[in-house]
Amino acid sequence: MKENSVRVIVIGGGTGGMCLAHGLRRAGVDVRVFERHRTRTDGLHGYRVGIDPDGSRALKACLPPDVYDLFVRTCARPPETFAFLDERLRRTLTVPLRTPTDDVNDEKSVSRMTLRQVLYTGMTDVVRFGSDFTHYKQTETEVTAYFADGSEVTGDLLVGADGTNSRVRAQKLPHARVEDSGIVAIGGKVPLTGETRALLPEGVFPGIGLVLAPRGMACILHVMEFPWGTGGGSPLPGDPTGDHINWGVSAHRDRFPADVTGFDGPRLVAQTLAMTPRWSPALRRLFTLTDPTTCFPISVRTSVPVPAWPTDRVTLLGDAIHTMTPGQGVGANTALRDAHNLVRALTSGSRSPQVYERQMLGYGFAAVAASKARTGGDQLVHRPVIGRLALAGQRAFLRTTDRVPALKRRFEASLYTSRGGDRE
Ligand SMILES: Cc1cc2nc3c(=O)[nH]c(=O)nc-3n(C[C@H](O)[C@H](O)[C@H](O)COP(=O)(O)OP(=O)(O)OC[C@H]3O[C@@H](n4cnc5c(N)ncnc54)[C@H](O)[C@@H]3O)c2cc1C
Repeated sequence: MKENSVRVIVIGGGTGGMCLAHGLRRAGVDVRVFERHRTRTDGLHGYRVGIDPDGSRALKACLPPDVYDLFVRTCARPPETFAFLDERLRRTLTVPLRTPTDDVNDEKSVSRMTLRQVLYTGMTDVVRFGSDFTHYKQTETEVTAYFADGSEVTGDLLVGADGTNSRVRAQKLPHARVEDSGIVAIGGKVPLTGETRALLPEGVFPGIGLVLAPRGMACILHVMEFPWGTGGGSPLPGDPTGDHINWGVSAHRDRFPADVTGFDGPRLVAQTLAMTPRWSPALRRLFTLTDPTTCFPISVRTSVPVPAWPTDRVTLLGDAIHTMTPGQGVGANTALRDAHNLVRALTSGSRSPQVYERQMLGYGFAAVAASKARTGGDQLVHRPVIGRLALAGQRAFLRTTDRVPALKRRFEASLYTSRGGDRE
């Protein structure tokens, strides 16, 4: 790398890649982002992302103050509670979430599409859309990225921020493995109206609801209320986001038809209803009222830890290196943490990603393991007989925690520390 400056090529203009680009540009580093989508609103970005203190800290450090302010202003109302329920919507535990002390140490709810538009703000000269990366070549002194349209670009460091199916990772670490977690999920959005609001039980509307049901099934519920209300009022160009309820039903892959990932919206709604015949009628009504165009299936994946590699002119961040299940809700937050740490490494005296890589492999794969333990096909709840006992044990634990204030406080504290609260 050159002594005083480093020209950085970022492959992938997603959550981590754009945070990195902002941070580097603010530090005066020559950075360019190459994104395969043709426009800033292409792709399916409909779901809710929870930004924890790790994520907010990284965004605050990397984004210009006015863009960070835009991010905070375009978040949904923050969740105030975390409610655990059974499939009849009976509450087993409600944990109050901490009242924010500042604009970092809190839990934010953001629409992925809105966050994407925030991250593209003021970056038209940095991002080149329609750039489908194919491969790279590196020498002792530089690295060149090649694209499907025949173009190429040369720099000092190439960062693969190209997500779970990363081509950068495939070339750099052909031994790295992304695996099926055994879990499939169906997600959807229901517009927030008087009717849909009334379908939610008390305790879910102010925050997050998690239904834990027999057969290893689960359903996450998020109420997303934006300062501008219904769709069309977002201050960000091309962002159609408006008030809604976001739901996601998950279960072991064996409980779904083998071809479910090819289903269209109406079939996904029908599939969700077919799998939940004994669930609360209110919840089933919510599924029925879902806008089918917002429904999507996900075959949830995870990754296998890789040993450290000799530092060269190509590095990786986010899902490109440590894809994880949504069990802990930290995939995006870890990508943002990576971006922040990589900015620090590249703007330090060494201008090298070496320290970043060592740290990132540690906390990144720890998050992969914790996420898989929470949401993974080999959890006890997915086993035929023992699964029922495991669910009964889980519910007993949650009910006891609900009744014993000291246990509740400990539970709440664990939620906070696992999401980066009070980290430096
Ligand atoms: C339903 C759901 C809910 C989630 N909820 C949460 C949550 O609450 N909290 C949380 O922390 N995480 C959450 N996640 C995970 C989170 O969305 C990801 O971990 C995060 O987006 C990873 O960021 P990234 O920058 O690594 O990759 P991405 O954001 O996926 O960005 C990768 C980018 O690379 C581009 N790209 C890919 N290939 C190429 C190529 N060949 N050439 C050029 N560009 C390319 C893609 O188009 C994309 O823009 C959730 C995920 C899902 C599916």
